[in-house]
Amino acid sequence: MSDFQKDNVALMCDIGELVGLFDFKAGLDAFLAKAVSTVAWHMRAAVCSIFLYEPETQELLLRASQGLNPDLVGHLRLKLGEGITGMALKEMRPICEARATDNPHFKYIPGSREEMFVSFLAVPILRKMSPVGVIVVEDPQWNYFTQNDIRALQVISSQLAGVIENAHLLMKIHAAEGESRPLPPNPSAEEFGPGTYVVRGLGASDVMGIGLSTRIGEYLQEKEGSLCPLGLTEADFDRAMAVTERQLLDLQRRLEDKIQDAASMIFAAHVLMLKDEAFSGEIRRRIRAGANPWAAILEEVRHYVELFSSSPNPAMREKVLDVEDLGHRLLHNLSAPTLDSTGPDYAGQIVIADELLPSDILKLSAEGVAGLILLGGGQHSHVAILAKALQIPLIVATDKRLLRLPEKTLLLLDSNEGQIIVRPGPEAIETMKALIRSLADSESLAADVKSETRTRDGTEIKLLANLNLVSELDVALRVKAQGIGLYRTEFPFIVRTTFPTEEEQYLGYRRVLERMNGRPVVFRTLDIGGDKALSYFQMGQGSNPVLGLRALRFSLRNPAIFKQQLRAMLRAAHGNPHCRIMFPMVASLDEFLAARNHACACQRELEQEGVPSRLPQLGVMIELPSAAILAKELADAADFLSIGSNDLIQYLLAVDRTNDEMADWFSPHHPAVLRTLHNIVTAAETAGKPLSLCGNLATDFRMLPFLLGIGLSTFSLDSMAIPAVQRRIAQIDMDQARFQARKMLSFGRIEDVAEYLKTAGAVD
Ligand code: PEP
Ligand code: MG
Repeated sequence: MSDFQKDNVALMCDIGELVGLFDFKAGLDAFLAKAVSTVAWHMRAAVCSIFLYEPETQELLLRASQGLNPDLVGHLRLKLGEGITGMALKEMRPICEARATDNPHFKYIPGSREEMFVSFLAVPILRKMSPVGVIVVEDPQWNYFTQNDIRALQVISSQLAGVIENAHLLMKIHAAEGESRPLPPNPSAEEFGPGTYVVRGLGASDVMGIGLSTRIGEYLQEKEGSLCPLGLTEADFDRAMAVTERQLLDLQRRLEDKIQDAASMIFAAHVLMLKDEAFSGEIRRRIRAGANPWAAILEEVRHYVELFSSSPNPAMREKVLDVEDLGHRLLHNLSAPTLDSTGPDYAGQIVIADELLPSDILKLSAEGVAGLILLGGGQHSHVAILAKALQIPLIVATDKRLLRLPEKTLLLLDSNEGQIIVRPGPEAIETMKALIRSLADSESLAADVKSETRTRDGTEIKLLANLNLVSELDVALRVKAQGIGLYRTEFPFIVRTTFPTEEEQYLGYRRVLERMNGRPVVFRTLDIGGDKALSYFQMGQGSNPVLGLRALRFSLRNPAIFKQQLRAMLRAAHGNPHCRIMFPMVASLDEFLAARNHACACQRELEQEGVPSRLPQLGVMIELPSAAILAKELADAADFLSIGSNDLIQYLLAVDRTNDEMADWFSPHHPAVLRTLHNIVTAAETAGKPLSLCGNLATDFRMLPFLLGIGLSTFSLDSMAIPAVQRRIAQIDMDQARFQARKMLSFGRIEDVAEYLKTAGAVD
């Protein structure tokens, strides 16, 4: 058995090549045909076939093959569990045979030419852990496929699942046509008059931006024909299609360069929709029937927006922005001068929206958006965390007049101050530009940062970085973070269209450890649910997702997903003594012990398989009141604890962290919060276990003396905040901090603490 000349690494990493597969005009089957030939080529395998599962008949249908008799394509059907291929799907696991005929499930297909092949590898294609199909490779050499081949094929199958999902989605939408309901009317709101306005909101990403306002899909509201250029033909439409496709593929590549761990096929999925017969084919039919191409595109896009937005399926509703984006691009490319000179991307623009999804933030970031204004969501929401990670200015505001701003109104966003300036004067623009220049320069930000952080009296404090996307590592290293205290591993899951495979996760985790080069890295297992939904997995959380199947509960309820992630982490921990694993939203000792059992079982399994791995230290996030009450027991059982102050405050005070209108109630200085924090520190000290704090509280200058005063000395925070927090800590005297902490713990009213913070100035 040898990997000689096989090119699996190229196959796995070369997402660009898969994206290139969309070059084919004829939709899914052509894409699959190209996929099988690419896989066969990279794996040097004589046969590669893809079967897709048809839920209605519970059968697998051969949709593409290289190497088998081509007459079977579109005709060969296997029942679930029939043959090795059917078994791989039924049992949802890869089956690899050195000699296929040794497997009791082997089934000879007459006329297939399979008699020439000996080695057989079948890997299920799964979406949301439900069956999509099977990819099979075969070769005449005995024992030809290796463990590496299995992993490579798993990566490929997850990519294929995303594309197939989109294709299916489109088919369902066509089937649902006719059931559409009209869009609800736009609620009327007052408008801004002429002149300059300052609108207050909540800054959510500490960066500044300047740009022209836009609303995605705004052109759909344009009065009929007001922008429609005359004299356009079908040839102009063809040109616009070609340019749009090129732009989308280019964006996909840019996205992958920028955010490697989230390199799902976001824009490539747009291409599939663009080329869908029912979309572009319908536009073409309208043009041939005499419609102006501009009007034909507009009508078709509106039709889809209506269909998507009225669908009861959340995955379809999520496509609204995608189709609006497509429409915007097509119209722009049809006749660029009519949509002014800003280009089809959102470069230099400030997007105003009611709501955006994490994947939208990624798309907009790849397109170079200059800022975001959201009319919903909160400062502590995960969309805000992602915007901050990508350094996009974001302000959460409630003033509905923003939604009625004329397109291309000049805006300044000061996310630090939570300020939006509508139509700023020349002085404000100059000041802002200078500020942006100095702040954007993270070299200068990092210039005076020290590798150690000490209080005024010399006590050492550890500052680690929170990591959401691997692309943030550069800044973390530049600001001399002493490690990664919290890697929110769910972000690569959230922004994709399918679950990443164990192999993809392992490669990503290993990359983080390698880049941190011996410094500690705490990997947090998936924290999805709440405001972090996966578009491709039905959570079924009822009307209150924050109190639903979130974080560790989700992992324990979905052991296959949990196991995959744990295995990837344990493999990455091999040879890395500084790698740690932490469980989010632990509600009881029982839950922690259950999670630990899973980790131990995975470790045993990996050892039996002979896969290099290591069971690292296991920690608990204290972010639920129940965990805070049980802190002593949890500290005794776990290797370390970390306080998640964002959720701890949310759940302790019953204040939705994502609701801007509740921001006044989200009080870190609430006596109940202060005492809870103090109790957790005492519990960790008594148990002799390390404790850190990784919520946003670590960046609250007023609260830092209290946190140091109760005995916290390790913090994990956004990298960009490290230099300023380091400077703030250098002003704090530990005796004074302890005194302040004691004083603050003595108050029973929020008001009294607030008053004390004001008079003490919280500055030492
Ligand atoms: C927290 O809750 O404080 C935390 C760090 O986790 P997240 O913000 O990802 O919920
Ligand atoms: Mg949390």
